[in-house]
Amino acid sequence: HETVYAIASGKGGVGKTTTTVNLGTALAEAGKRVAIVDTDLGMANLAGFVSLSPDSMTLHDVLSGAASVDDATYSITDNIVAVPSGTSLDEYADTSPEGLREVVAELRDRFDYVFLDVGAGVNHETVLPLGLADAVILVSTPEPAAVHDSKKTLELTERAGGSVAGLVLTRTLPDSDISHEEIATRLETTLLGTIPEDATARESVYAGTPLVVYEPDGPAAAAYRQLAGDLAGVD
Ligand code: ADP
Ligand code: MG
Repeated sequence: HETVYAIASGKGGVGKTTTTVNLGTALAEAGKRVAIVDTDLGMANLAGFVSLSPDSMTLHDVLSGAASVDDATYSITDNIVAVPSGTSLDEYADTSPEGLREVVAELRDRFDYVFLDVGAGVNHETVLPLGLADAVILVSTPEPAAVHDSKKTLELTERAGGSVAGLVLTRTLPDSDISHEEIATRLETTLLGTIPEDATARESVYAGTPLVVYEPDGPAAAAYRQLAGDLAGVD
């Protein structure tokens, strides 16, 4: 099966980090060894989702050559580790993303699944992970602007030599005017799953606990477990 997935979007704030954390945690709960990596170098925030305070080594230190991947790898719970990024603007200014290639190569050998939480937009550090991953999972809300921007991420993935696994639609509502399948079809990709709008998603971030642990019986948690099962079922 595919090992390294980039979780990407054109537009920001659509649920990439939420998807990285919860898909990763659901797979870890199913016994897979998982690494989640914050490659959103400019707007890093994955650490907070899992109650890590990256006051010591981060991915920025690895990329600048000051630390090993091990130094910046933190255990979260059974079977899952996180590689957080630094959050200061100075660290961002001092970092070149090129070293990501080696980081990914190292993690690939040690985990069943590696999820790269990619920044939004079209800059260099966004495009690089799209080509490094075995497959890209596009994340979008059903909102037309977000779907439109997904098209760009799709094109960028092709240009970077990567391949798109499909689309995860987040924050879906029961009474949408366009079918979820139709959105994927318009993007000429596969609908991998839909994650319903769920108020506990935001609460779980404040709690620093993945949603699948914080509210395991909620609709979004169930949808993330389903997505994890579908992904792992391809083994
Ligand atoms: P991104 O990483 O793409 O910027 P986030 O994962 O940080 O997006 O999510 C953006 C916001 O949307 C957060 O406040 C998050 O709690 C909220 N959110 C994500 N998924 C859902 C959902 N299924 N239901 C409700 N809110 C959600
Ligand atoms: Mg994010």
